[in-house]
Amino acid sequence: MTFSSPSTAGFHPFVCEVLERVREVVGGPCGLHEPEFDEPAWRYVKETIDTAWVSSSGEFVGRFERALADFIGARHAVAVVNGTAALHTGLMLSGVQLGDEVLVPPLTFVATANAVTHAGAVPHFVDIEAETLGVDPLRLERYLAAIARRVGGRCVNGATGRPIAGLLCVHVFGTPCRVEELAAVCARFAIPLFEDATESLGSRLHGRHTGTFGRFGAFSFNGNKIITTGGGGAIITDDDTLAAAARSVTTTAKRQHRWAFVHDRVAYNYRLPNLNAALGCAQMEALQRFLDEKARLAARYRDAFGGLPGLRLLTEPAGCTANHWLNNLVLDQEFVALRDAILDATNDAGIQTRPVWTLLHRLPMYRNAPRGELPVASDMESRVVSLPSSARLGRSAARQSADAVREALA
Ligand SMILES: *Cc1c(COP(=O)(O)O)cnc(C)c1O
Repeated sequence: MTFSSPSTAGFHPFVCEVLERVREVVGGPCGLHEPEFDEPAWRYVKETIDTAWVSSSGEFVGRFERALADFIGARHAVAVVNGTAALHTGLMLSGVQLGDEVLVPPLTFVATANAVTHAGAVPHFVDIEAETLGVDPLRLERYLAAIARRVGGRCVNGATGRPIAGLLCVHVFGTPCRVEELAAVCARFAIPLFEDATESLGSRLHGRHTGTFGRFGAFSFNGNKIITTGGGGAIITDDDTLAAAARSVTTTAKRQHRWAFVHDRVAYNYRLPNLNAALGCAQMEALQRFLDEKARLAARYRDAFGGLPGLRLLTEPAGCTANHWLNNLVLDQEFVALRDAILDATNDAGIQTRPVWTLLHRLPMYRNAPRGELPVASDMESRVVSLPSSARLGRSAARQSADAVREALA
């Protein structure tokens, strides 16, 4: 253990050890998750500008949707302006109505709960499990057995009297949650299942892509996600009716006509512009390389942290291939007090790390939302540290030298 570096002076030896091991993997200063673009991105985006097809009625939108649906193995992908819009649209078209409740985990990005609110419903927080950070099927089953009632074929929260119109599970950090077990619990209680798969493009469970287990899956292509369109999202579904409705409601419900402007309902302007979709087409071509590099990076973190007592790495459970969107340390209970020092030491060294989100039921707008007991989420909130996870950090030696040659020639 070295104390010579000024950036580690004064920190607890455990903190220095963590910093050194992270530095060993990432090499030097880096962001948490940096997007990466190669040549086709320039060409496709330029094409939208050259042809002036920058808004939603250009050919890249359909191409991007086809590439996504094929990669995921779903019948339909409907591209929209962001992941939150994808969630909102999916919920709105899946029977979620004003005053209903939708079950969500508290350990997620705020958009999960916001989308439920946008759909007119109330988020109802249920606990997670420590292994995947996703909703815990066993706890969910026990909780529903205690609170749920069946009224006219629907599941109702006995305490509030409101229908439970769905479970919106989240594949946190790209690790598939126990979505098969959750689907079974949901089926027993007549609760529709939806997936916030915004972080899990490329993540599969028993060979099946996340986002295809429920009625719909929502994906995000924000700048920090595994691929980016600047801002963007998609609704993924096998349901032809849902897909057609999603296409309509995200384009102001305008009827197809050569010149007439007739709209069927109050709707949204949520369609992804062609300019963004062009970037998306280029990113889809790079996706498999990103996934390979991120798998290599995850293995490097495993090697670097193997055998260090006091923490573990969050790893994919058996039967999963995760996209390793973000790699995460989970501190043992006795080292929780050092979490902030780890965040300080790494960020002081220019290596961006961060804690998990503040649990949503602690935010002012969700303080009074219904919830079960949340002991696991509360425990994990103070123990997880997200590590730099850009694809380039897992680049192979061969690609690194090819890049060096390209740069030298440029
Ligand atoms: C990114 C994200 C969203 C929302 O996606 P945007 O494209 O930013 O609107 C929703 N849920 C989770 C868990 C996310 O990480």
